[in-house]
Amino acid sequence: MEAQHSIAGTALRLLQGDLTEARVDAVVNAANSSLMGGGGVDGALHRRGGPAIREACTTIRREQYPDGLPTGEAVTTTAGDLPARHVIHTVGPVWRGGGQGEAQTLANAYRHSLEQARAHGLRTVAFPSISTGAYGYPIDQAARVALTTVTDSLRRHAGAFDEVQFVLFSRADFDTYRQALEALG
Ligand code: ADP
Repeated sequence: MEAQHSIAGTALRLLQGDLTEARVDAVVNAANSSLMGGGGVDGALHRRGGPAIREACTTIRREQYPDGLPTGEAVTTTAGDLPARHVIHTVGPVWRGGGQGEAQTLANAYRHSLEQARAHGLRTVAFPSISTGAYGYPIDQAARVALTTVTDSLRRHAGAFDEVQFVLFSRADFDTYRQALEALG
């Protein structure tokens, strides 16, 4: 399954698939603040990428974020044995009903991930659906925030990226993102 749009010269692609297989400059990890791995897409990326990712995260924790990576921030590491070249780790918000700034924090996670990619000259980036697994963010609302934020960043930084993908794990998630993208026009 696939859908494609062009935003200010950058291809925006929605795919159904497994993020650990993405052959891109950077895959974005829906990490937790510890950066030490976890369940869901985080666990899958660490497993398939091997120990180099965890070692890089340990160094970042020690040198930059001894209290953990704050929600909405992002950092970049090697991708170890993954087909991608780098992993951008970001922490989405835990859903607490929507009145705790979740939308803003989720937008920050996407925006800061793309900022990391730009800072490292990474031109193809693949995202998962951040916060919609263990963190419980309703996916229709999360898809709207994700797509609005990413298309806005692509317009602000025209020419910075060749392609940005959303790799959705299930057919249902893919359909939700496709509908949200169509609704944006
Ligand atoms: P969070 O803690 O941010 O909610 P999760 O990893 O629990 O992160 O879930 C985020 C999304 O990633 C969910 O929609 C889940 O289905 C999806 N996901 C899990 N494994 C993969 C994978 N290998 N590739 C792409 N998406 C995945």
